[in-house]
Amino acid sequence: MSPSQIKPDFSWSAVDTILLDMDGTLLDKYFDDHFWEEYVPKIFAAENGLSDQEARKELLLRYQSVENTLQWTDLDYWSEQLGLDIPELKCKVDHLIQVHPYVVDFLKYIKSIDKTVHLVTNAHSKTLEIKLRKTALGPYFDHIVCSEEIGYAKEQPEFWIKLHDLLQFDRERTLLADDTAKVLHAAKQYGIGVLVFVARPSSRLPVKHSADFPSVVFFNELIPQ
Ligand SMILES: [Mg+2]
Repeated sequence: MSPSQIKPDFSWSAVDTILLDMDGTLLDKYFDDHFWEEYVPKIFAAENGLSDQEARKELLLRYQSVENTLQWTDLDYWSEQLGLDIPELKCKVDHLIQVHPYVVDFLKYIKSIDKTVHLVTNAHSKTLEIKLRKTALGPYFDHIVCSEEIGYAKEQPEFWIKLHDLLQFDRERTLLADDTAKVLHAAKQYGIGVLVFVARPSSRLPVKHSADFPSVVFFNELIPQ
């Protein structure tokens, strides 16, 4: 059973900088889940004379072996590993890339109260390019940072030290929203002041709140009424 919701409790006047994750936080993770768990195995199966089920099993094992690392998000790594053109395959199903409800309202709101907003993502630059082209969210951000630029994944403590060197924010007065608890734990350890867990990363999966962090289902919960 999902833990009950801990409601975010902070004042916008205590926040200067907002760091937002992309996949699952701003965008529907259904695209990524479908792409890696259904679409790629199907193509891989056809290319290698396997059943869809065999291919899925094989690929899930390969995915798990690089979980929480930069390799996991590296499209060039997967193109080479699987002998497929992964960026091209992503473009073929890009109609599934969707912005979560209320995200644009939220981005407009935080710009209206003059906050600095950065997109901070583990996504590979090629994924980022496809998604920003599709969603047109790019202009809302002061900076867009990919983990590959930093050299560490957001789950790793070093990421936060390097991100701070790059963006120079007051960590106590910074808010991070992310749908990965491990990322929030790493950010908490670094001293990020306000942490928000996104409890509905995929439109096709049930809401799951965090027992450790305040959470929201949709970003309208962070817009004062
Ligand atoms: Mg995410």
